[in-house]
Amino acid sequence: MAFPRDLVRLILGAVLLALAWAAPAVAHSAQEMAHTPTCHATSGPTRDLAAMAPRAAWICGGAPTHRSPPVAWLRFEAEAWAEGAPPRFFYTRTARHEAITLAVLDAEGRMVSRRFGESEGTPIAAGPVFKLPLPEVTPDTRAVIVRIDKPHSIPLLAEARLADHPEAVARSQVEMLVLALVLGMLVLPLLFDITFYLVLRERFVVYHALLVTGMIGYLLFAGGLINLFVVLPVAWLAVLAPLSWAIGCGAAQLFLSAFLEAGALAPWVRRLAFWGGCWTLAVPGFFALQFHATQPVDDLAYFLSITPAAAIATFAIVHAIRRGSRSAVFLAVAWTPLIMTSLERLARGLGLYVGPVSLDTMMFVATGIEVVVISLAIADRFLAIRHERDAALSEARMLEQISTRDALTGLMNRRGIEARFDELLAQGFDTFALVDLDRFKAINDLHGHQVGDAALIACAGALRSGSDRDAIAVRLGGEEFVVLLRGPRTLERAEALRRAIPMRIAQEVPGLEMPVTASMGVVMLGDAARHKMAFAEFYARADALMYEAKASGRNRLAYERLTVFSSVPERRRDERAA
Ligand code: GH3
Ligand code: MG
Ligand code: MG
Repeated sequence: MAFPRDLVRLILGAVLLALAWAAPAVAHSAQEMAHTPTCHATSGPTRDLAAMAPRAAWICGGAPTHRSPPVAWLRFEAEAWAEGAPPRFFYTRTARHEAITLAVLDAEGRMVSRRFGESEGTPIAAGPVFKLPLPEVTPDTRAVIVRIDKPHSIPLLAEARLADHPEAVARSQVEMLVLALVLGMLVLPLLFDITFYLVLRERFVVYHALLVTGMIGYLLFAGGLINLFVVLPVAWLAVLAPLSWAIGCGAAQLFLSAFLEAGALAPWVRRLAFWGGCWTLAVPGFFALQFHATQPVDDLAYFLSITPAAAIATFAIVHAIRRGSRSAVFLAVAWTPLIMTSLERLARGLGLYVGPVSLDTMMFVATGIEVVVISLAIADRFLAIRHERDAALSEARMLEQISTRDALTGLMNRRGIEARFDELLAQGFDTFALVDLDRFKAINDLHGHQVGDAALIACAGALRSGSDRDAIAVRLGGEEFVVLLRGPRTLERAEALRRAIPMRIAQEVPGLEMPVTASMGVVMLGDAARHKMAFAEFYARADALMYEAKASGRNRLAYERLTVFSSVPERRRDERAA
């Protein structure tokens, strides 16, 4: 199947352009009224607040680089709010930590401080940010000092702010709207997945549902949308966001391994994607839980262990496209924006540079794009699979037709009648009339096989009584036929068919000096019709009657009527037809 590559390039280009345009606009939308720390430091757990009063204890300028120290310190100078209103709250990105101590230092070196446990943070409504109240900041205040015990991530330090109201650090309304929109877009694919799975029982649909679930979780917890509905503890939000992302990245690789067409991936690449998916669910999934025991390493470990996901996905998609995979082209369109924005987020998470929370919006937009394009890909694959299945079905039907039909006469053959026999019996076909042409060998010998074949076709024509739905003619083999009859007077109707044979052959095959007659053995179930009888038994009985008919001069009919009341069936032999 050809795919419009130019169209793909066009869509991809447009998406990237839109992201590039949106990024700076989004990045500037907030944080004008929030104050950033001017100095930072790290220490062991024993250093106290008093030791941090002198300026010499601090590194000023630049961003914190030590990701998981036992204790991290931040210092905000009072000059920052000299003009405007003094800050009332400390805000930072939702992340795990043990405790945060907020201290206000005045000109005389006096300090007022308050310590908050992790559970005391209040998530703000719009964004992955929580807040703590500052001790009162007065005109005498020289600086605010923040001590963070056991911080689990760099954004917790790098995105710390002081402000007097949450709007200064919250996502803008536009961003929240984008988030809500993307979330709405994710619900539909989840419903699609359920529908697809009911029809198609394909594993990739389950993986996709898991992928969408991970993304929904990420939007809710990392996007901060959940805060609009319920107030969850900071620790929960801090765990659920990276956990959702790990689930999404793991499911994406599993999806990749199951979704691409047979032959689109070399077996080892398919295995790589599958085990990569398992790894991502297990290892970054574990570090996302951020137990205090793993605090010194879990942040770095999470980001390092999740990085291969992007590499594996990129490698597998390029590999599949080069092998001519149509589905991989969809994946490339769907995942390029996501992989690029994830790498940006990864760089931020690793502390390679500091960017505002609002940059995450690009990732949410990319998530929306991903889900729409993947849903199209699944729909496309769905059609392809159905098409394949329909083709296979109609071929099977054709093969069945071929295997149950006689090639010469077009009648049903022995295989066909045996397969359907019980069903026909149940439908009331209670009379089994075996037909054998008389001295047929002589026709072949005198006129050749072709003339013999023509006679067989003519005979089949005589037995196939047009539109009679109560008589079914079958060629058992050679010049032997069966007619199954139901309805009234089956014996008379069978006899009429037998008598029609010589005339029909004479009409269709001219030049035969003798009429070609037929003998018949007829078995009627009669009132024993409810009694089940196998094809083989019918055949054997009819064959015996046929032998009688042949023995007593041919061109005649012998029959028996089976009854449940008499063990000796009524048997008769007809006289030679006139
Ligand atoms: P009888 O009255 O005892 O049935 O004599 P008969 O000659 O019909 O004897 P028999 O049934 O043993 O012979 C069947 C012959 O039918 C043998 C074979 O030459 C011929 N025959 C079987 N199948 C075909 C076929 O497909 N085409 C042609 N032309 N002849 C066939
Ligand atoms: Mg014969
Ligand atoms: Mg025969």
